[in-house]
Amino acid sequence: MNILSICLVALGLVFLSQSLKPAIKICKQVHSLGWQLLLLLIVFFFIGYCSFLYYLTTITTVSIVEICLSTILFGGSIFVFMVIEFSLNSIEELHIIAQKERYNALHDSLTGLPNRLHFMETVTTKVVAAAPFSVFVLDLNDFKQINDVVGHYYGDQLLIKLSKRLSRALPEGCFFSRVGGDEFVLLFNAIELSEISDLMAIIDKTLVKPFNINSYNFNVRISTGISLFPYHSSTIAPLLQKADTAMYESKKQQVSYRLYNDTLDDDAKARLAISSKLHLALAKNQFQLYYQPLVKLQSTKVHHFEALLRWPQTDGSFIPPDQFIPLAEQNGTIRQITLWVLDTITQDLVDFAAQDVDACIHINLSALDLQDDYFSTRLSALVREGLLSPVQLVLEVTETAIMTDITKTRDILSKLSRLGFRISLDDFGTGFSSMSILRELPINQIKIDRSFVMAMHNGNTNNAIVRSIIFLAKNLGCSVVAEGVETKAIAAELTLLRCDYLQGYYYSKPLPLASLLPYCEQQGWKVALQ
Ligand code: C2E
Ligand code: CA
Ligand code: CA
Repeated sequence: MNILSICLVALGLVFLSQSLKPAIKICKQVHSLGWQLLLLLIVFFFIGYCSFLYYLTTITTVSIVEICLSTILFGGSIFVFMVIEFSLNSIEELHIIAQKERYNALHDSLTGLPNRLHFMETVTTKVVAAAPFSVFVLDLNDFKQINDVVGHYYGDQLLIKLSKRLSRALPEGCFFSRVGGDEFVLLFNAIELSEISDLMAIIDKTLVKPFNINSYNFNVRISTGISLFPYHSSTIAPLLQKADTAMYESKKQQVSYRLYNDTLDDDAKARLAISSKLHLALAKNQFQLYYQPLVKLQSTKVHHFEALLRWPQTDGSFIPPDQFIPLAEQNGTIRQITLWVLDTITQDLVDFAAQDVDACIHINLSALDLQDDYFSTRLSALVREGLLSPVQLVLEVTETAIMTDITKTRDILSKLSRLGFRISLDDFGTGFSSMSILRELPINQIKIDRSFVMAMHNGNTNNAIVRSIIFLAKNLGCSVVAEGVETKAIAAELTLLRCDYLQGYYYSKPLPLASLLPYCEQQGWKVALQ
């Protein structure tokens, strides 16, 4: 019986000693007083078991009480061992779950890159550490169009592949994160211009090869804006905002990156000033409409004119439409501006008619004009009231405007086409999806973008592009306009290519209504209905 009691207590000691290691592990992971007391208790038990074991070895016979006590001590030690083991397993599982949750909270689920929260934590740490670094804001060009044209699956795959390729290419010490749909932020531990341009060269090189997704090839371009800590700001929000301003500038100038400087802020302020003056300009009727003739070949008649907005200033200068239209699109005033243009054209048509001219006016529409019904409703009303006939107006729309919301645009343009209005696809060749638009929308005319026309020379690529667009338009039953005709040689070349209409400074600059018809007559053009 002695041997049995000694074995039970000795085994109990083994279990207790096996509990010590996990108990210490728990105490290290969970800094709570309860677990430390439990560890202390196990140590006391251990000493108690040792003392009892020693006692058992010193006596010759054991009583029934001592046998029972040995059994209880054995059972107790198994209990302690199991409780500690299970607790350790549960704590470790919880720890893994918590780690996973923290990882998910800090990473983007699509690309696996650090997300905005992670970026904010990292940049905050860097600002506190106060060592110089640079912030790169990277934004994909035309990403929305990729999503719209080929679908979100391809958009997502492209983001995943791009993130992987860039992450692999970036050198050590770069923190690369995805902070929005197609917006990435990179933190770089250097502010030397040479190092920044080296890094940009790496990024540009990574994008040279197209991204292949299910046998589609995507060429991606990224616009990048850069700000420097602490030179441009020593706090996070202005640093980001300045990198953002520089990114928009790089997008506008179509260069791969721009480093922030104060003049960019001046530009942003000037844009804000223009933007806030737009409402007033409308209220004070400050806009004017100029008209540029579209000269029809194989005929001496000119009756198509493109209406182009002018915004004269008190000092005699003009704010160019390229500058204020994008701002009007941003702040929504473009809606009222388009309605003002439409009303002015309607009034001017009365003037044309008074001079026996059956003019057909081309009006430029923006994306917003095609996304809700105010424009088409006003147009229908004008037709209903007999103030405008659909043959008197051609609607010029760009691919970019159409692609902003292709479904809505298709509805509105189809409705207007059924009413008898003709639709002209402006700036053709500069967008992303010319072919699908031609297939899906009721397009009557194609206007070749002036960048191709102005750079046409015998045998060069632009010449081939213009030639192909004219061929395409003819086969689709569309008329074709070449805009930006500046020289006699290009006009002659386009005449040979049998382009239907020519528009450009070679024939006439945009003119105010008062000088338009005298100018046309002076050129010997007859102005009459086709
Ligand atoms: P756009 O629709 O492509 O208009 C043609 C632009 O090319 C006009 O610039 C015109 O003056 C210019 N242009 C015409 N012939 C030549 C040429 O031979 N050489 C060169 N270099 N340029 C030529 P503008 O009037 O400055 O208008 C710029 C843009 O502003 C227009 O481009 C159009 O997108 C926008 N815009 C103008 N008026 C309106 C408007 O009433 N509504 C809207 N939504 N946009 C307008
Ligand atoms: Ca136009
Ligand atoms: Ca154009």
